[in-house]
Amino acid sequence: MITLHEKAYAKLNLTLDVLGKRADGFHDLKSVMQTVSLHDPVELDLGTGEPWKMICDREDIPCDARNLAWKAAAAFFAYVDRDPGGITIRIQKNIPSGAGMGGGSADAAAVLRMLNRHYGNSLTPEELAALGGTIGSDVPFCVLGGTVMCEGRGEIMRRVPEMPKCIILGCKPEFSVSTPVLFRKIDSVDICHHPDNDGMEKALASGDLNMVAERICNVFDPVVSADHPEISHIKTVCNACGALASQMTGSGSVVFAIMPDMESAEKAMAQLKETYSRVFLAEPV
Ligand code: ATP
Repeated sequence: MITLHEKAYAKLNLTLDVLGKRADGFHDLKSVMQTVSLHDPVELDLGTGEPWKMICDREDIPCDARNLAWKAAAAFFAYVDRDPGGITIRIQKNIPSGAGMGGGSADAAAVLRMLNRHYGNSLTPEELAALGGTIGSDVPFCVLGGTVMCEGRGEIMRRVPEMPKCIILGCKPEFSVSTPVLFRKIDSVDICHHPDNDGMEKALASGDLNMVAERICNVFDPVVSADHPEISHIKTVCNACGALASQMTGSGSVVFAIMPDMESAEKAMAQLKETYSRVFLAEPV
């Protein structure tokens, strides 16, 4: 038996635009996505000689073939036509669920990356990302990682200049958002403010964190904020502590803020912890 290890990094959407609904029911998106240091450690035992098994430290996460990490392993072994002789997947869930941080997708991508590495990189990065796309829309980005302009359902990817080093504060309100419900809602509202994705790319190329912060924009933010005052509350606390920008990620409900220094980040963190149980610091990776 052999054990493999990999970190499954969470993602943030620096920008997120919905361009329209497609004939297949999915939406065309355009988003600059960024991996951050918050991660789930993922371990895989290969060749256990026992039925497939999964162990996770959170009871609300399915530990069977419904789990995206399990689906990723099954998809990989089917693709390479191999039998691992039994596997056990262990995940320590640090990434909050229903948060817009791509937790399940990150775990799936980590499984794909470590299996491909173990089997001599038999799939090209493009093949691995495409295989990830069969599991979930965010998985191709999570396979690649870094700072990426994603289009289509997320499968059309182009690396853009990396995000400048900074301190990111994240806070998860108690409520979670159903992504399908939110997509249905966005179809019925007029999106007043779209992100400037080209401007964001130029800002990233300049390496100027203030320019990047000015262009952070997510079309889902006002839709979720309208129903949940917690989003505005978290932003108000972060902004009062000097945040350069604060914004909901993905379909929520995590709000992230770019903080100017550790002192202000810790101040905001202490205030938020009085109300919210999930508050964390991270940096771009
Ligand atoms: P996204 O940012 O892609 O919208 P999310 O923040 O909504 O993701 P996830 O952590 O991906 O949240 O979890 C969404 C649901 O997916 C969970 O409620 C859980 O039942 C299911 N799920 C399947 N596999 C996993 C996994 N490995 N980790 C977490 N959730 C998983």
